[in-house]
Amino acid sequence: MITPLRSSSYVGRFAPSPTGPLHFGSLVAALGSALEAHRQQGQWLLRIEDIDTPRTEPGAADSIVRTLERFGFAWDGEIMWQRHRTDAYAAALARLKAGGHVFPCGCTRREMADSGFARDGSRRYPGTCRHGLPPGRAARAWRVKAEGTITFVDAVQGPRSEDLARDVGDYVVRRADGVFAYQLAVVVDDFEQGVTHVVRGADLLGSTARQIHLQNLLGWPRPAYAHLPVATNAAGEKLSKQTLARAVDADSPARALVAALAFLGQNPPIELAAAPVGELWTWAREQWRLENVPHALLLPAPEISAGTVRRP
Ligand code: GLU
Repeated sequence: MITPLRSSSYVGRFAPSPTGPLHFGSLVAALGSALEAHRQQGQWLLRIEDIDTPRTEPGAADSIVRTLERFGFAWDGEIMWQRHRTDAYAAALARLKAGGHVFPCGCTRREMADSGFARDGSRRYPGTCRHGLPPGRAARAWRVKAEGTITFVDAVQGPRSEDLARDVGDYVVRRADGVFAYQLAVVVDDFEQGVTHVVRGADLLGSTARQIHLQNLLGWPRPAYAHLPVATNAAGEKLSKQTLARAVDADSPARALVAALAFLGQNPPIELAAAPVGELWTWAREQWRLENVPHALLLPAPEISAGTVRRP
């Protein structure tokens, strides 16, 4: 095999959580991140985010990896598995503790039931344990003190600004069940993998300020961010395991890839849906432009039928 010449320091990645098989929404994130890395002559890494063991579905990681291979995706280097990385997350938490940025929290979910809401609709932490655990309480989770305003310019969604205390509140980095939170794990892994560009679904746009905040506290560089529209079903709900999103059809990769390219505003010729998948990749690698991705948070997933790509 000939290894392509890499002339840039761009490092992108796709980081699925194995909570179910690859569905159209995750295919869009895989495709957008892979094509942008190719366009920038960079590397594209694969990381399986299987740290959240209670939510991980047995067999889903293998199924995602097999589907990606079948669809013609080719990642650089070894796959990173989050379940092997708890030492790295513990070391980052130790640094946050040493810097006085985190505190142990003994509150239960029920105790927070009448606190206000954060921007994402979750309960905003009322600050009960911020200055020390109340007497007789044991630490359950570890939280980061949310302070300051984070601003960034997303390559697809434009400028964003978040006042951490008002919009998010002190957030969890190690959960009461001992699992390191996604926000911390993703920051540690993006740093250690040398990721320079994060291209992913807009459902994670609201996590970005927290991730930048953690990068700042740990003294790590900030990657550039591009959040792609999230695919919705006919009822307008995000495609996910909860909305029973169907797995992509592994028997017709070209068809699903054409739908994903159309969704991302790339106008693929419909004939590619019936062509060998290699032909589709050749077209996509030449034609992909991040600038053509619609500046939307949510978009209905298109359907391919009778030789047309149709938006429901
Ligand atoms: N594992 C996350 C998910 O599947 C994505 C993480 C990321 O791209 O930052 O939703």
